[in-house]
Amino acid sequence: MERLQGLKCRECGRSYPASPVHVCEFCFGPLEVEYNYEVIRQRVSRARIEAGPKSIWRYADLLPVELGADGEPAVGPAVGFTPLIRARNLADELGVRELYVKNDSVCHPTWSFKDRVVAVALGKAKEFGFDTVACASTGNLANSVAAHSAEGRLKSYIFIPADLEQGKVTATLVYGPTLVAVHGTYDEVNRLCSEVADKYRWAFVNINIRPYYAEGSKTYGYEIAEQLGWRAPAHVVVPCAGGSLITKIWKAFKEFRLLGLIPESRTSMYAAQALGCGPIVTMIRNDTDVLVPVRPQTIAKSLAIGNPADGYYAYRVAKDSGGHGEHATDEEIIEGMQLLARTEGIFTETAGGVTVAAARKLIEAGRIPRHEPIVICVTGNGLKTPDVLHERLSADVTIRPSLSAFDQALADLKAKTDA
Ligand SMILES: *Cc1c(COP(=O)(O)O)cnc(C)c1O
Ligand SMILES: [Zn+2]
Repeated sequence: MERLQGLKCRECGRSYPASPVHVCEFCFGPLEVEYNYEVIRQRVSRARIEAGPKSIWRYADLLPVELGADGEPAVGPAVGFTPLIRARNLADELGVRELYVKNDSVCHPTWSFKDRVVAVALGKAKEFGFDTVACASTGNLANSVAAHSAEGRLKSYIFIPADLEQGKVTATLVYGPTLVAVHGTYDEVNRLCSEVADKYRWAFVNINIRPYYAEGSKTYGYEIAEQLGWRAPAHVVVPCAGGSLITKIWKAFKEFRLLGLIPESRTSMYAAQALGCGPIVTMIRNDTDVLVPVRPQTIAKSLAIGNPADGYYAYRVAKDSGGHGEHATDEEIIEGMQLLARTEGIFTETAGGVTVAAARKLIEAGRIPRHEPIVICVTGNGLKTPDVLHERLSADVTIRPSLSAFDQALADLKAKTDA
């Protein structure tokens, strides 16, 4: 029996052989990778995982790609195993007992959690024999596909909304892909990409390769559970764009329980989105499974997907897990970024600001109890999107290079804070 069974429709349950397809031809439901957990159970153990590399590849038994004969992945050997830190200062500030930050803004090759999904997607694209990869991106995916296609000697076409942050544009172009800037929203870019994917035989990581790509996000959840000492937390707050990550963290805990790697437990999942683009959170808060697409208007551009592909499933996970959802305004996003930076020394991008702000509001509203373990998902690095802070932050004083000038400035500053 094989570890990987192929693909299966999430709606009607029809099976498909492993191939670069993502929708069911009968009911148009999304396809998901199907595993044989009996085979995996024979193989995995805590000891085997702990003896593996300090990367997502320690969980290779649970991913839909095969490692090479040398045990190395096709691309992304250094992706993953980012820090889970006990955030005591932020916990004090929020008035909770046990708080952790899963920090995917560091250690990854392109400083966001997207390296997890891209490493798996491009590995699979190579297995399928593609020589060209592509994606529709809100920024971080562009960075990661560009970097890993360079590493994997693949041609790449990257489609972005033309109004993306300059930092993310530059951090894509440096790797030498073909970057296509489109006058339109991400949702318009994505629609265009679906047409391009039909016409050209390319591996679109978040279209025809999506079922494999999405599995990469499970490693975020595996790491949380392993780093907590092989247990799942009671509460996890997750930033949502297309809505895939939140469903895959949930799936990761479910798989670990199924395989006996962690004890039976319950984890409540909370969706965090910007108020200016929060269709998933709106579903959760209004308790409706009908997603109403929106036109994004937010500084959290990496989360600005107005018609999220996995919106319905993200909603279901939040509901079925006993979690909830919360929006953050642009002002709250910036406060969240600054709060995390000044309490924990972590500079996250706007998406992290959304998550911190949403977590704070959920705790204050009594939605997340203060005495149970909480994990906040920080998924991207602030140095990619410093623009939003430029006009708010500046030097406290600017002086001539002399001690007397400094003495005077210090006295002025003291007077100001004493006042
Ligand atoms: C893409 C992205 C997300 C959300 O991922 P989805 O799986 O699309 O919901 C969260 N944070 C950052 C920084 C991202 O780039
Ligand atoms: Zn189907």
